[in-house]
Amino acid sequence: MISEVPISLLIPERHEAGLAFTCLTCCVPELPEVETVRRKLAPRVEGRVIAQISVLDPLWSAPQPTGHFEDLIAGRRVERFSRRGKYLVLELENERFLVMHLRMTGTLLYDPLPDTRYSRVEFNLDDGTRILFCDPRRFGTGLVIDGKLALAAYFSVRLGLEPFDDQFGPGYLAEQTEGRKVAIKSLLLDQKRIAGIGNIYADEALFRAGIHPESEAGRLSPDALSRLAPAIVDALTAGIDAGGATIDDFRDPDGAWGSYQSEFLVHRREGLPCPDCETPISKMKVGGRGTYWCKSCQKPLRGRRR
Ligand SMILES: [Zn+2]
Repeated sequence: MISEVPISLLIPERHEAGLAFTCLTCCVPELPEVETVRRKLAPRVEGRVIAQISVLDPLWSAPQPTGHFEDLIAGRRVERFSRRGKYLVLELENERFLVMHLRMTGTLLYDPLPDTRYSRVEFNLDDGTRILFCDPRRFGTGLVIDGKLALAAYFSVRLGLEPFDDQFGPGYLAEQTEGRKVAIKSLLLDQKRIAGIGNIYADEALFRAGIHPESEAGRLSPDALSRLAPAIVDALTAGIDAGGATIDDFRDPDGAWGSYQSEFLVHRREGLPCPDCETPISKMKVGGRGTYWCKSCQKPLRGRRR
């Protein structure tokens, strides 16, 4: 099991960028940011041997003790660097998997400067390069899982379908929303239904689909779901194409900020004109999450349950 770090163990110190404090449930990084990390690192780690790994913060690997954890990983070749939802997976030889979650402020930096702060784990590769898992707020985690079946079981209880999966579409959304009274925005954030969407991309996808964020999920029409499925894929694709969004601390493995935050259609744009109709963008809370939407383009549902 991945251990959850109690709030009392948080480091209050902020990242040197000095950007705004964000809440515990803020979902950055989301799928596009995690995928950006994977794409940048995969060609540099696949085929390499992890000569040494040093877990500098026991919280990262808890409850697995750091020494035991290091023994499980060191000396193994990386066959593939993959992603599932917001998880990154170093697939090692002989079906050993290092499953990592960046949580809020975790990032993997490739060959960073020697004085890089907030290092929690250091990987030394057989080509002399090193990768640091840096994480000022220490929510990120690492876990070793043995065997493909155990890995599949781990994800199957935590994650729904990937939006980029061939099976994902209006039919899958219809199954997931059937009879559900929860707001569609909240349902989109439920990783057990759809993997990888957080607060940014939920707002962006609902705007693209013209759906009010508080719409009861089970009342969305087939027509609305047939707009929503591609809108989710389009919003995530736009995020990946921009190298992710940097609102808080997100950096790619080369230390570069993402740029998608400058392309948001509604998210964090309260009071600014809607890109479609120029109505000022509104903000409200849905399921406790700050939610941005256009009153003119995203009308509330009317009529009966489907
Ligand atoms: Zn509008």
